[in-house]
Amino acid sequence: MMRSRDLPPSEHAETHADHSPGAVTLVGAGPGDPELLTLKAVRALQQAKLALYDHLVSPWVLDFLPAGAERIYVGKQASRHSLPQEDIARLMIQLARAGRSLVRLKGGDGYIFGRGGEEVQALAEAGIPFRVIPGLTAAQGAAASTGIPLTHRDHACALVLATGHRRGNGEQLDMDWPMLARPRQTVVLYMGVGNLPEICRQLLAHGLSAHTPAALIENATMPEERCVTGPLAQLPELARQHQIRPPALIVIGDVVAARRQPAQPAAAINPDACSAPKL
Ligand code: SAH
Repeated sequence: MMRSRDLPPSEHAETHADHSPGAVTLVGAGPGDPELLTLKAVRALQQAKLALYDHLVSPWVLDFLPAGAERIYVGKQASRHSLPQEDIARLMIQLARAGRSLVRLKGGDGYIFGRGGEEVQALAEAGIPFRVIPGLTAAQGAAASTGIPLTHRDHACALVLATGHRRGNGEQLDMDWPMLARPRQTVVLYMGVGNLPEICRQLLAHGLSAHTPAALIENATMPEERCVTGPLAQLPELARQHQIRPPALIVIGDVVAARRQPAQPAAAINPDACSAPKL
């Protein structure tokens, strides 16, 4: 009997398609520093033959892929889409149906503003098996490396992760301002830097004090990490002065004043971390 690996490549794919599809592993790549990957993520990367990755996945993380693994960039920046979301899902389904297992790498955690939910929905509907490996979300990486204790109990009893991004061009920011302006909570805004003036204006209009401590954290956990702190009312001006650019987080709440800078910034990427550990 002819085994599938004896067939030429094109027939090979077809043979697989007749049988079981490949599987998709959705991997959270963390905020940048490769040492913040989970062991499960490293193992999945080391075993991958094919990886689809986003804009925010750091090159050090990609170094865990075997040299011969195929890499497909499907990332997008706020205004420059390289592959629309539906096309990414379609591509994964096509590859999986051709029998190819793949790793889908996303910055941070795939389920936190990462559209992992949408992709997994599409895979499930298409009958493609998948598994999900969590990653540290940017807020966690940023908090640790800058020393902001997000839920210090003297200052906050809730942590809100929200997006400060418009869905379509020119649309109003669709945010629950009264909820975001509540006292005794920490708000971390993803994708909000471009809309910072409007965000601050609305939060002040909905009752937050102009003196509320706030921070902008750019490239958290990366060698080029920067953290700028100041009162909420001055945040847009600070962002302009320091030319804060994405990827950056906005952190708002009294916990920013409780910041204690770690002795050694986590931003020092350890070159040894990029050589694959034995798992
Ligand atoms: N899934 C990702 C978030 C993707 S949305 C996660 O869990 O972290 C993209 C936004 O995440 C960026 O606009 C920025 O606000 C934030 N972000 C991602 N990585 C970051 C980093 N290293 N430093 C600061 N912000 C980051």
